[in-house]
Amino acid sequence: MNRKIFIRNSFFTTAGLLLAQKNLLASFFQEPAWKIKMLNKESGIFTEKGGTILFTYTKDGIVVVDAEFPEQSKHLIDELKKQNDQPFQLLINTHHHGDHTSGNISFKGIVPHVLAHANSKTNQGISAQKNKTEDKQLYPDQTYTYTWCQNIGKENFCLYYFGAGHTNGDSLVHLEKANIVHMGDLVFNRRHPFVDRSAGASMKNWITVLDKAIEKFNKKTTYVFGHAADGYEVTGTAEDLKAFRNYLDKTLVFVEGEIKAGKSKDEIIKATSIPGAEEWKGDGIDRPLTAAYEELSA
Ligand SMILES: [Zn+2]
Ligand SMILES: [Zn+2]
Repeated sequence: MNRKIFIRNSFFTTAGLLLAQKNLLASFFQEPAWKIKMLNKESGIFTEKGGTILFTYTKDGIVVVDAEFPEQSKHLIDELKKQNDQPFQLLINTHHHGDHTSGNISFKGIVPHVLAHANSKTNQGISAQKNKTEDKQLYPDQTYTYTWCQNIGKENFCLYYFGAGHTNGDSLVHLEKANIVHMGDLVFNRRHPFVDRSAGASMKNWITVLDKAIEKFNKKTTYVFGHAADGYEVTGTAEDLKAFRNYLDKTLVFVEGEIKAGKSKDEIIKATSIPGAEEWKGDGIDRPLTAAYEELSA
């Protein structure tokens, strides 16, 4: 080996070694995969994988809305325990989907109650049976049909059911004093939604649900959304509810027009954007288009 090549090789080897060390160091001090963002002094959101979690400290214990997956809810529990020695008082599920409820299991033995809409509990049971995960679930022990309200600490928690939307068991969870509403998956912020027709979803009624929410809450309400597109927030205002309401409306109008024009389902779901709701980009447009087609031709 001549000297020049030798120098070059040893340079690359040293550089490679330094790089390896740097990566090792980076992974050692790696930031956690999850994020916590406080919305006020007592309440915050936790995001990692799955539907956004809302938590709030009260003097009677911690209340948590949704649980992502088992690993994620473990991260949340460990972190909240570090911050505060209060016990968990209540876990609420906005609806039954696994990205909101499979993390319930981490709360087994540490939360006295799990609360959800009656249909959501039924759906959790059906899904678990289908997926053979019955032993991995922690089911709601409390359910309600239209409205559920209770004071915990100084906060008043109210759950509302406004009929079918994303599923047939979606709760809107209102923290009255803080004026925060967890919408569950009733809002996909600038992201094409999943419409679970097998669990009784209705896009037409979803619009009504959003109208009722806009009427019930106010301009100062902070809304928490289950999901958002990259670059968009999982919290927002009534304006974001109106935008999503418009998206659902425009999707139904578009599909109805296509059906009337004699187009087949396969042709319709090939569309790449919804006229009048172009802000919704990215993957998964076929899901709401298929759901709209099925609902309109049922
Ligand atoms: Zn979800
Ligand atoms: Zn969902």
